[in-house]
Amino acid sequence: MSFSSLGLHNKLLAVLDSLGYAAPTPIQLAAIPPVLAGHDVMAGAQTGTGKTAAFALPLIQRHLERENANSAIRVLVLTPTRELARQVHQSFVKYSEGLGMRSVVAYGGASINPQIDALHDGCDVLVATPGRLLELVIKAMIDVTSIETLVLDEADRMLDMGFITDIRRILKRLPETRQTLFFSATFNDDVFALSKTILQQPKLIEVAERNSAATKIEQQFFEVDKSRKAALVAYLIGAKNWQQVLIFTRTKQAVDVLAKELEKDGISTAAVHGDKSQGARDRGLEAFKAGRVRVLVATDVAARGLDITQLQYVINFELPYNAEDYIHRIGRTGRAGQAGLAVSLVSRKEKYLLDDIEKLIGGTVSLQWMQGFEPGLHEQDEVTSSKRKPSKKALRAKALGNGSKNKPSAGRARRR
Ligand code: AMP
Repeated sequence: MSFSSLGLHNKLLAVLDSLGYAAPTPIQLAAIPPVLAGHDVMAGAQTGTGKTAAFALPLIQRHLERENANSAIRVLVLTPTRELARQVHQSFVKYSEGLGMRSVVAYGGASINPQIDALHDGCDVLVATPGRLLELVIKAMIDVTSIETLVLDEADRMLDMGFITDIRRILKRLPETRQTLFFSATFNDDVFALSKTILQQPKLIEVAERNSAATKIEQQFFEVDKSRKAALVAYLIGAKNWQQVLIFTRTKQAVDVLAKELEKDGISTAAVHGDKSQGARDRGLEAFKAGRVRVLVATDVAARGLDITQLQYVINFELPYNAEDYIHRIGRTGRAGQAGLAVSLVSRKEKYLLDDIEKLIGGTVSLQWMQGFEPGLHEQDEVTSSKRKPSKKALRAKALGNGSKNKPSAGRARRR
């Protein structure tokens, strides 16, 4: 199936040709016709599947077909994070190059005035995070009455991040007659509840099994002591000569600590998290994208929307508390059909988090030990500062010198 068979405008076909997009991805095949026809759409699509073009292309086509092309905000795209907002905006710019469509991006944590100036220069598509959009509406800086299409991108993440109140306040101000496109990587009761209240007779589209990881991503899980994780990361990257590795930690503090340790090991590393200024975050992401640093350590939110087609390696330094974050994290690799490897480091205390991940990916996870990094008999850091005494059994085993007697051999796959 080709893009031209989807009825796309010749000018759009020329842009796609110049980008080297030979054929539509499954989500594009499924979503472009109903979006073009003006239907509401509810799509289960993961990041990396080409979902941005799935909604951007038909919306640009509508712009091209509009005869009276006075500038007004006709498309509003809401995204959970500023990084994703910028990425979606850049996609609109890329796909509509030379087609006279103006996209503006607005997000919090950055000065509002340049964003207002850009809006006043003319805006057909506004890509925004919910908080900043609301601010613009409340301050009467934008007119949202001309909006014809609302896109909720990564709706699941918006709910996770507590944007439901903002979204409801925004919805009250939008025209009731509109097209609504709802994209979510994962679905749960909250996501369904929101979709029911805002979609009208939507076309349901699902291109990959719901809540599943993109199929080309190989997933490995290593059980390792918490105190040995940084060394294992440095080993994996160094010994295997991995370039461009994205590492997730749960907290901002852990980002900084790990980034410092990797730098000490001679691995060039950038760190991004919510406590860094927007400028510092942008510089870190850019350096990583451009290959000037080998590793990017990030929290979940900071890495949201990061799109590097060639990214091959993702490491979960710590498992996320929310299993759906696992899907989002590993979805940073394996993009646009490329192969990817996602390695998760699991300490003893994190093992319970694997149950939810298994449920979500619909399979069992095989925990392995990496030679030289096998979990120790006494995990001092995990036993915590209580200075709990080793058990008699452990002491006896140590005294007999057979502490590792019952361990599986290094590197061997092992069920928990
Ligand atoms: P997305 O899921 O929208 O974040 O897109 C993931 C990546 O796939 C981006 O780098 C896009 O530029 C790329 N992409 C989207 N559609 C196509 C296509 N039809 N052919 C090749 N690459 C694509």
